[in-house]
Amino acid sequence: MLYQRSSSLFKEAEKVIPGGVNSPVRAFGAVGGTPIFAQSAKGAYIHDEDGRTYIDYINSWGPMILGHAFEPVVDAVVKKAKQGTSFGMPTAIETEIAELAVSMVPNIDKIRFVNSGTEACMSAVRLARGYTKKDKIIKFAGCYHGHSDAFLIAAGSGAITFGTPNSPGVTQGTAKDTLLAKFNDIDNVTQLVEANKEEIACIIIEPVAGNMGCIPPKDNFLQKLRALCDLHDILLIFDEVMTGFRLAAGGAQELYKVNADIVCFGKVIGGGLPVGAFAARNEIMDYLAPHGPVYQAGTLSGNPLAMAAGLAMLQQLNNDRTVYNRLAEKTEYLHHGMANALQDYNIKHTINRKGSMISIHFEDHEVHDFETAAKANNETFKKFFHGMLKEGVYIAPSAFETWFLCDALSYDDLDATIKAVKTVSKDL
Ligand code: PMP
Repeated sequence: MLYQRSSSLFKEAEKVIPGGVNSPVRAFGAVGGTPIFAQSAKGAYIHDEDGRTYIDYINSWGPMILGHAFEPVVDAVVKKAKQGTSFGMPTAIETEIAELAVSMVPNIDKIRFVNSGTEACMSAVRLARGYTKKDKIIKFAGCYHGHSDAFLIAAGSGAITFGTPNSPGVTQGTAKDTLLAKFNDIDNVTQLVEANKEEIACIIIEPVAGNMGCIPPKDNFLQKLRALCDLHDILLIFDEVMTGFRLAAGGAQELYKVNADIVCFGKVIGGGLPVGAFAARNEIMDYLAPHGPVYQAGTLSGNPLAMAAGLAMLQQLNNDRTVYNRLAEKTEYLHHGMANALQDYNIKHTINRKGSMISIHFEDHEVHDFETAAKANNETFKKFFHGMLKEGVYIAPSAFETWFLCDALSYDDLDATIKAVKTVSKDL
């Protein structure tokens, strides 16, 4: 049996961990089967507990942009660990990484470090509400901003005015302050803003959505949102947990030349350790405790190991910005190779891509929002996923996720991936 040890490890895990995993999407729920247990990873490859090796397109869901166990990051963490792992006091390295992040990202003066993307987005929204003294927020159907209550709001017709929670435990009271809009539909957002005049604190968006597959903004959507926010004194929050330091050194703000009011980070900024951050101009950030009235805190925030990993990662990206072109070229190569393979077997598909983010939806209509993403053929995706896995290529176990390329991928790896797509396409 291919995944024998992973299967038995999963059975053990299920007895003591809910669903056997510490984060649901790892459980293969969307594609069926039992998850593969990782044993180690290096560069573009991940090795499982059964001794199989995969070309990895998840890259820990984004952080490992330079590949697994990137030596400068690992060395920095090991060195720091020997000096103590947490102090609950300020450390010089926090300022060092903050200075570097502020210098790389446009339009921010100060940055606060937290422990996850969820915390970053949750805190950013609290700050926006405190700063604007307004309660409601707008999020987009299909965008994910972590598992904080305010973000777990389902799409649906009744949700146009007031959201309904899609997780038990989220109260109606919380849900009613989250309004849902359609990604890439500025008329829809404008209507929502006009129906809730003077009540909206912020609009939060993934500037390139990665949680419904990869969906880039179209027709200057981000620029239009900026103008709408300016008109109505609404803060624009870019959730750059995926896109930050990945699409460009300055993230989506740099790439699309649109300024956000608050920017959230996670993933790459921690180099594979648990880090999130949010940042803005002085006026907004000084509204945070201890200077300002909006409270936000963390025992392990700015943890020295996490900061050492993040700093080593950002230094590398800052010093070699050619990495972004390299990644985009590799992603384009993969796109064309996979598209040709799928076309050869007449498989309906749409591939979306931006920088080093890419995904396949198995339908031939344009995919530009949650509705169009949801219409794609999930049965085909399931077969594709398991086929690729068998061929030694590890992609996200859900069509509602993006793939992330890392710089360690060689063109031989990309060719092997395209070959795997050909093989799998025969049986789709
Ligand atoms: N925002 C976005 C855009 C994300 O993709 C994610 C996680 N995938 C989060 C926020 C939440 O980050 P975390 O899982 O680190 O809490």
